[in-house]
Amino acid sequence: MTLSPRGARSLAAGFVGQHGPPAITDPLKETSMSISRRAFIENGAILIAAVGVSSVALSDSAPMLSESDPTAVGLGYKAKASAVDKAKFPQYAAGQMCSNCALYQGAAGASSGPCPIYPGKSEAAAGWCSSYAKKG
Ligand code: SF4
Repeated sequence: MTLSPRGARSLAAGFVGQHGPPAITDPLKETSMSISRRAFIENGAILIAAVGVSSVALSDSAPMLSESDPTAVGLGYKAKASAVDKAKFPQYAAGQMCSNCALYQGAAGASSGPCPIYPGKSEAAAGWCSSYAKKG
């Protein structure tokens, strides 16, 4: 099929009208966008890992819970489980302590660790409070 110049122009105009102008791609720009997207994802993963590590570090270095803390007083917390007021907290049983409580989040063998009952504080592994829940 042969087209006259006029026919070719009108065919081209119809093509542009239907599909828009042909896309002009810049391979260099696409490459730099791919790299920056990859860098963004990689940096995001590093940032998430760093936040995770720092939150663990922060929770491990949280100040120790004081036995005079109002919540601790109310729940009978003692840094040494053997010092628990057994008359006031008869549910206490010898051998119960934070380190074997289901709520305790300290590392195995650590002398203290966090517990969700006392946010921002660290509890003694040898401690106890009336929210004690035996590890399943
Ligand atoms: S809830 Fe468990 S881990 Fe938390 S302070 Fe009480 S006994 Fe310790």
